[in-house]
Amino acid sequence: MRRCWLHTVFFLALNVLSLQVISPVPGEPASTPSIILNNVRYWPASDYTRIVLDLSNPTTYTDKYLPDPDRLYINLENTFIVGSIPSVDIENGLVKQVRAAQNDKQTVRVVVDLTGKANYKIFLLTSPDRLVVDIYKEVSDKQVPHSPPQKSSAAKTPTIVIDPGHGGKDPGAIGKKGLKEKDIVLDVGIRLKRLIKDKIGADVVMTRETDIFIPLEERTAIANKKDADLFISIHANSSRREGASGAETYLLGRATNREAMDTAMRENSATEKSLNELQLILTDLLTTAKKDESLRLAHYVQGNLIENLEPDYKINNLGVKQAPFYVLVNARMPSILAEISFISNREEEQRLGKSKYRQEIAEAILDGIIKYIQSTSSLAYPKEAANISAR
Ligand SMILES: [Zn+2]
Repeated sequence: MRRCWLHTVFFLALNVLSLQVISPVPGEPASTPSIILNNVRYWPASDYTRIVLDLSNPTTYTDKYLPDPDRLYINLENTFIVGSIPSVDIENGLVKQVRAAQNDKQTVRVVVDLTGKANYKIFLLTSPDRLVVDIYKEVSDKQVPHSPPQKSSAAKTPTIVIDPGHGGKDPGAIGKKGLKEKDIVLDVGIRLKRLIKDKIGADVVMTRETDIFIPLEERTAIANKKDADLFISIHANSSRREGASGAETYLLGRATNREAMDTAMRENSATEKSLNELQLILTDLLTTAKKDESLRLAHYVQGNLIENLEPDYKINNLGVKQAPFYVLVNARMPSILAEISFISNREEEQRLGKSKYRQEIAEAILDGIIKYIQSTSSLAYPKEAANISAR
């Protein structure tokens, strides 16, 4: 019996090995576990395209931009393609196509054929492992003007992306009474959408309106593709500390403190190691203007979360913080992630379960957005008649 069990273990181990170590040439075993490029996904827009390479393990890569004709190639080290990956025709005026092929025994080369000159940014995400390649038409990121008191005549009606966190197979944090973060934040998001349309008259794009799973990089891609003006990701917090409570609002950056890092690890389903690696390249992925605007937006939203809720509830003001959230990486507009309350806290879970509280939270976020738009010269506030200060 024991021998049989051992045999099974050995057989399983062999199977695991054979999955991890793909030998490119029969009879010539590879010495290190290999990485498989499984798939190429993309989200095209007229001046932006996000390409995602789905990998079986973390890879190392080199990249190079070549002119005449313009193209970008990325070499994925120690990586293999099983079978073949068909080339992807994009033809959106920016990217012609994406080709992936085994370049040599140990390297996959991905070539992005471009229509003309383009900028690009590349970063790795984990759980699952993927390499994100963002391609832009323009030379520099668009600048968002700071807040002069008068509206310019060219002010545009804003497009606001609301991103209810998690969904589908990913429930997010779960409270002690069983409340799921994905359900709570979707409800708040839908309430916020109605309020924005009603009170501001702005265009709203939801990353999800039903209980479906959407990868984090796709949420940002949706916002970039729509050329949105604001990106608001809504989440509920969770902590191992029983007493943890309150609201906080994040923008993308190096983690402010231990708690901020823990929150990012949980929201990204990522390890501290992978987030530290991402933090090292964050400065490449941020522009000062966008960061300043995200900070301003975060302060308005956080300010109203506290101001609106404080009269009726005991609400802990955890302030505005930074952390490396995948969903905010390379968003091309001011973008924030609001942790509206702690679902892990008994009292706050009970509150989150009530529609009155969720409506009040949506109204608080709305008020923060209104203040931001009113103080931003490039954005129009179509329904000027509404008086936010009278609320
Ligand atoms: Zn979350």
